[in-house]
Amino acid sequence: MNKSEYDIVIVGGGMVGASLACALANEEISIALIEAVSTSTGQQPSYDDRGLALSLTSQRIFNALGLWPAIAVNANPIRHVHVSDKGRFGFVRLHADMLNLEALGYVVIARELGQALMSRVEQSDNIDFICPAQVEQINNERTGVRLTLANDTATQQLSARLLVVADGVHSRIRQQLGIETRSKHYGQTAIVSNITPEHAHEDTAYERFTDSGPLAVLPHSQQRCVVVQCVHSEQANDYLGLDDEVFLQRLQERFGRRLGRFSKLGKRTAYPLLLIEPQEQVRDRIVLLGNSAHAIHPNGAQGFNLCLRDIAVLSEYLLAAVHAGDDPGNRSLLDAYVASRLPDQQRVIRLSDRLATLFSSQQPALIAARNIGMLLTDLVPPIKRRVIQQGIGFWGRQAAMLREVS
Ligand SMILES: Cc1cc2nc3c(=O)[nH]c(=O)nc-3n(C[C@H](O)[C@H](O)[C@H](O)COP(=O)(O)OP(=O)(O)OC[C@H]3O[C@@H](n4cnc5c(N)ncnc54)[C@H](O)[C@@H]3O)c2cc1C
Repeated sequence: MNKSEYDIVIVGGGMVGASLACALANEEISIALIEAVSTSTGQQPSYDDRGLALSLTSQRIFNALGLWPAIAVNANPIRHVHVSDKGRFGFVRLHADMLNLEALGYVVIARELGQALMSRVEQSDNIDFICPAQVEQINNERTGVRLTLANDTATQQLSARLLVVADGVHSRIRQQLGIETRSKHYGQTAIVSNITPEHAHEDTAYERFTDSGPLAVLPHSQQRCVVVQCVHSEQANDYLGLDDEVFLQRLQERFGRRLGRFSKLGKRTAYPLLLIEPQEQVRDRIVLLGNSAHAIHPNGAQGFNLCLRDIAVLSEYLLAAVHAGDDPGNRSLLDAYVASRLPDQQRVIRLSDRLATLFSSQQPALIAARNIGMLLTDLVPPIKRRVIQQGIGFWGRQAAMLREVS
């Protein structure tokens, strides 16, 4: 049903843009989802082999959207979390049953998540998926936003009452709009891979802080584990080029023998780590979402989880406006959305930034502080419960869809 006028155009059909489209799969609202790279190329940058730890809140959001059964087929529960500081005394152990929960979260592979999202997008009559296509030009007018799209063979004009910018961390649209950002390069690169450990992972997620950066080993299906290890950026190419055996040996040295010997190394991918905070998240008829609105260090596995909480709230505002016959691009609606999400966004951004600084520091006072902090968290049940509640996303005002299902 390709047409030229929509209620909402979402640019970027990655995890965030596609999740928002799924949350807006409703006959009252017309959506165009524009994506530059087709999944059939095998090069789609959002749906790669990255393992994502989804919080319990994210699981509940997908459940409320009716997507969880499709995602759950390939998801592995996280029932225990073990955090440690390599070679030092501090550690924290968290267990789902402390709060009578079935799991603290779930690990999914981005590619598999993408399949579930794209299948919903394709089945939704109110969503036109336009791919491959890029936005060439944006004209923001009083009653709507006009876009010129292009691919190798054609150009196309679209208009919408609201433009959602979800084109990732290096957002071209954010640049075209001249939105300034505060950015910080951590000097670290995450190398993501997967392995099979000798001992069963028993649904335990390990986060290990080491002198060269954090290392996460996440449980996945068929007793595989997803490994996210941060290395100094200048060493990233060396890590990518290492012989498999040497790579595994280095990984093993960093992680230790808790899961026995590692084998069957999968593909390695590198992601330079940075913090990006734009100075504006909304303009008239425009809202930034996902990595284009805030990109953070993956140390707390919070980036996409935060985006999903944004999506849960934004979709509620938009559906309510359209249902009431109001304009979804109304500036006061967009301002209200940002005001309601800013406290959670700021909390997560600051926390991940502080963790990145605290756990990469070699200053004796900071090393002592973080180890005492971990020990206290492990030994004092109320602190531990609060850490779990924050980690699973039960913090602050929840979207109505969560209040209904929890
Ligand atoms: C190593 C690593 C591990 C992580 N682990 C976790 C985790 O465990 N848990 C968690 O919650 N989060 C995690 N994250 C964060 C998570 O990956 C991001 O929050 C998520 O990818 C953001 O999705 P996005 O859709 O905003 O951006 P992207 O995934 O970058 O998608 C952007 C999309 O826009 C498209 N696009 C770009 N430009 C254009 C254009 N001009 N026109 C049309 N389309 C365009 C791209 O092709 C892409 O499909 C991790 C991140 C990293 C780097």
